[in-house]
Amino acid sequence: GSFDTAGLHPQVLANVQLCNYDRITVIQGYCIPIILAGHDLVAVAQTGSGKTAAYLIPIISKLMGKVRKLQGPRPAMKGARVRAEPLVVIVVPTRELAQQIFDEARRLCYRSMLRPVCAYGGIPMSSNLQELAKGCDLLIGTPGRLQDLMDKPDILSMKRVKFTVIDEADEMLQGDWEDEMNKIMGGGDMNEDPDHAYLMFSATFPKESRAIARTYMDADFMRVR
Ligand code: AMP
Repeated sequence: GSFDTAGLHPQVLANVQLCNYDRITVIQGYCIPIILAGHDLVAVAQTGSGKTAAYLIPIISKLMGKVRKLQGPRPAMKGARVRAEPLVVIVVPTRELAQQIFDEARRLCYRSMLRPVCAYGGIPMSSNLQELAKGCDLLIGTPGRLQDLMDKPDILSMKRVKFTVIDEADEMLQGDWEDEMNKIMGGGDMNEDPDHAYLMFSATFPKESRAIARTYMDADFMRVR
């Protein structure tokens, strides 16, 4: 399979080529049309399957071309403090995974108005705040740090979020991050926004993941070996 028949935005297609992804992986073939169609999605997929690009590519493609409209007003004064209003929130269990997804997001967002920001524990909050203040369209982070940021409504608002991605959901639930995940999933008025989609990726699908999926999602379900 190839990426050019998938109906993707030409700039994201060009970025896919810059990443040297020649052939679409199995999970990408399943996920891209479902996410482009605006559905919620639960996918059982292992690391190494190309699952990160399976959600980043269609999300970025859908946002490209209408970024300005979705972002809301610019600051009135140059240098004025703006709170971050991301369009995408990606929650992951570890710093390493957050950093990897951030690197891939940066490559796939090349020549778009979309700016990814990475936020996880263990580094000073002040450096997150600096990055967020420069603009944040895709926020990638670990549950504890994301919750801390959400507790500062003048710093971070979830009101413009169009995609909430839970990656390695099983790891996160084993790590006892259930409360934080519930807070992030229930974040803005997402359940009332018909244009918002929840995407969940998990290597296994234990009952805790099922419970979260049932609570928030109206999902197409797939299993990729
Ligand atoms: P992941 O499953 O998201 O951890 O991805 C595993 C690796 O595969 C990452 O290093 C990606 O850069 C790479 N990758 C993702 N999609 C493709 C593709 N279509 N072709 C080749 N490599 C890919």
